[in-house]
Amino acid sequence: MSTVQQTTFLRESVAFPFCKGCGHHHYVHNLDRAFAALQLDPQKACIVSDIGCIGILDALFATPHTFHTTHGRSTAFATGVELADGILHDSKLKSVVVIGDGGATIGLLHVVNAALMNVDVTVLVANNMLYGMTGGQNSGFSPLEFVTPTTPEGNIVPPMDICAMVKSCGAEYVTRVSATDKNLAGVIADAIAHPGFALVEIVELCTEFAIGRNKIDGKVIQSMSSGYEPALLPTTFARKEFCEEYKEKVLGRPAKTKDDTITQKYISSLRGAKRWVIAGTAGEKVQLSSYLLMRAGILCGLHATQKNDNPVTQGSGFSLSEVVMSSGDIHYTGITVPDAVIIASAEGLKEVTVNGTFARCAPSTVIVMEDSLPELQSPARVYRVPMRSLCTPLRATTSAAAALLARENLLPREAMAESIRLHVGEKAALYEQDIEKLLPLLA
Ligand code: SF4
Ligand SMILES: [Mg+2]
Repeated sequence: MSTVQQTTFLRESVAFPFCKGCGHHHYVHNLDRAFAALQLDPQKACIVSDIGCIGILDALFATPHTFHTTHGRSTAFATGVELADGILHDSKLKSVVVIGDGGATIGLLHVVNAALMNVDVTVLVANNMLYGMTGGQNSGFSPLEFVTPTTPEGNIVPPMDICAMVKSCGAEYVTRVSATDKNLAGVIADAIAHPGFALVEIVELCTEFAIGRNKIDGKVIQSMSSGYEPALLPTTFARKEFCEEYKEKVLGRPAKTKDDTITQKYISSLRGAKRWVIAGTAGEKVQLSSYLLMRAGILCGLHATQKNDNPVTQGSGFSLSEVVMSSGDIHYTGITVPDAVIIASAEGLKEVTVNGTFARCAPSTVIVMEDSLPELQSPARVYRVPMRSLCTPLRATTSAAAALLARENLLPREAMAESIRLHVGEKAALYEQDIEKLLPLLA
């Protein structure tokens, strides 16, 4: 256990705002003593506070970083601070989450997740068994029979055991102590020194709402704190701290994903932007055809964007994709008036009807659609081609897009051929045959 020093991080002559007798007085003094015991550089300490009476403690500290956050989310903010520091900067910042039992209940999953990650965050739960700031309502930590303004007959729901909870998530420094425990500063110091997630549940009293309604005193609090004796800080740990693990297992290994940088190889005659809508049936490579089109544009040095849409069920119903290709920057990825629309199936036709694409077609728009679909009333030029039978449903939209691209002479034909080849390899020859069949039908 660490030796307590007599320095302080608190503001000079600061008056604590807590009610007389509130356990938060012990909490704050012992946190300050723990900082002093560790001889931490205040610039390497970050107090991340939550909402609640204990949350206003950050204003009492003069020198460490302080970060006042939203109710229940302090552990998530502290995790973010530690990830940013531990992975990008590595200044060995020590983040301490100051949270009450109310905040810990509201943000329980953040606490659980930080424990699972083993991120170097110390969570100090001020457990006074109720929501003090908002009127003494019972919390998820209220013991059975506990009387509060919202449980006047006594609480009948068992309290959660946050120590057991985070231990089951692999936390290696977990303890429960009373706010008046003479070793509290040392326990907090050891928790902060622990190179990974640590949690100290500090059981204390809200004099304003707990006393008077309940037969509760320091002895009861002491007995509630038993079962998790302050552990001596071990010298070795089974788990690596998250940032160390991340640097070793993610940053330190060769990337598993292939380099998909696209380098310009061709020159496009396009000036301005072209906007294409491709629609069909889920599972029939509609969105892939847009990707191949977009990649062909980028191979020609164009800017390109792709937006996909499908029902919540990913593999049934319609599939729709929009591509914008432009010789300049693309500031808007939506499509008001499409330059080209390709429709390969009834599901695709229904979607472009419902979503208003047809209503926005102009005489300059070119529509290429499967010829078995119903006739369209549109000011656009419409080409009806048997794309499903000529090319198969799986190649229909890609081959139709490639044929239309060749007909419009927007990109060198080889650019789309290369984009297809990069994806399907030798089968690219089948697409070439499709394009030859489709081109006369688009004349
Ligand atoms: S209301 Fe309760 S928790 Fe809040 S400062 Fe007063 S005694 Fe402490
Ligand atoms: Mg509380």
